[in-house]
Amino acid sequence: MTMFSPRQDINRALSNNYPEHLKRSLIDRREKLLALAGAAGDASGHHEPPPPLPDERNPEFEAAAACVELKLTGESKRRVFATRDIHVGEVISVERPFSFTLAAADLYHCHDCFELCYNPIPCDSCSQSLYCGEACKVSAWDKYHKYECPILISLKNIVGKHKAFLLAVKMSFLIEDESQASDVYKLTENLDKEHIRDELFTTALVTALMFHLVKKYTTKFEGATRQAEEKFKELLMLHLRICLIHAAGIDELCPNVIDGEHRLLNFRSETVGCALFPFYSFLGHACCPNVFAHHHGVTRVLRAIRTIRKGQECLVSYGPYYIEHNKADRQSRLLSQYHLTCKCRACVDDWPQLDLLPYQVTSQEDYAFLGDIRNASVDVAKSSIHRFIDGVRYFEDLEPYMDLTLQQKMLSYCYDVLGNKRQVL
Ligand SMILES: [Zn+2]
Ligand SMILES: [Zn+2]
Ligand SMILES: [Zn+2]
Repeated sequence: MTMFSPRQDINRALSNNYPEHLKRSLIDRREKLLALAGAAGDASGHHEPPPPLPDERNPEFEAAAACVELKLTGESKRRVFATRDIHVGEVISVERPFSFTLAAADLYHCHDCFELCYNPIPCDSCSQSLYCGEACKVSAWDKYHKYECPILISLKNIVGKHKAFLLAVKMSFLIEDESQASDVYKLTENLDKEHIRDELFTTALVTALMFHLVKKYTTKFEGATRQAEEKFKELLMLHLRICLIHAAGIDELCPNVIDGEHRLLNFRSETVGCALFPFYSFLGHACCPNVFAHHHGVTRVLRAIRTIRKGQECLVSYGPYYIEHNKADRQSRLLSQYHLTCKCRACVDDWPQLDLLPYQVTSQEDYAFLGDIRNASVDVAKSSIHRFIDGVRYFEDLEPYMDLTLQQKMLSYCYDVLGNKRQVL
């Protein structure tokens, strides 16, 4: 986490005609800061390092473990299945996205490396892109921002809250041909061919508009052939189609400042980024998932939230959970957003919604845990994980069951705390 970067500020002042007679005191201050940094080390992390993969790599996806494989389902889509029993809390994949865009809290994160940064520096030419330091500013400019910079405000106005469009444009600046991001293009096989007409009009229109902006206001096609322009259009439209379906959020715990609401915990989860995780995108949906996701920087870690038996499908929730949304709401949301009629156990057996009010935490130990963890203590999270894993294993055959849900919620919160979190300023 870059809480403050006074050394960089001093370097910038010295390289921008800082008065000669005052320079000595700045140089002294920089030396003191260097000595302090050496003594303190990097104590204040924005997140713990992501965990390692547990065993051999998956032969098809570097990011996934060999405990899963992709198999064709009856709906002609390849999905993820367990090749052996996977235990509660076990890591299935550790995946860095090809690229990301910020969806919120964009004053607090570097727009190039995503790390937390409370005093970012802006791009030399616009105020839309902020960086943790010179290195990221230069790197972003060279890779894509030199094209994005003149049109970024227009792009943001066009896409509104649909950040997946911005991600698609950024990817189109970064990728010259498909071989640079081969995992991304594996997703084309799962694109829904039946509903292509529904999305074709939107993606074609947005492609034409974005291409016009890039051609007219950026240097992207200076000296480029007609063929290169056509290739850009083709990839942009494909990226839009992929991102519309598969772009996923990057979550972070942030201070819980909603007034008038009972606050069990001082932190809540917020989606701050938008990225494409090709392996993750192959997982199917269930309203009662057996896999959950956590983020360490932009890296998405998938773990089993219950025991997954050999041969069973690994399933995440695309949004609706049976404990939070009734069946009619879930089904209509999944149908309109993903053209999906959910046939998970919770939908088929019509599991009841569970209302997670604080008074339903009944064990003294769990009360004590919530008291300790409310400030997102990494030590408390680390020391509690095994207790909740045991709790999930104890109750999992009784699903749907309140105590199981609570154990899963608290286990998930422990992993949240090890991942991205923003402290109160
Ligand atoms: Zn950075
Ligand atoms: Zn700029
Ligand atoms: Zn369902």
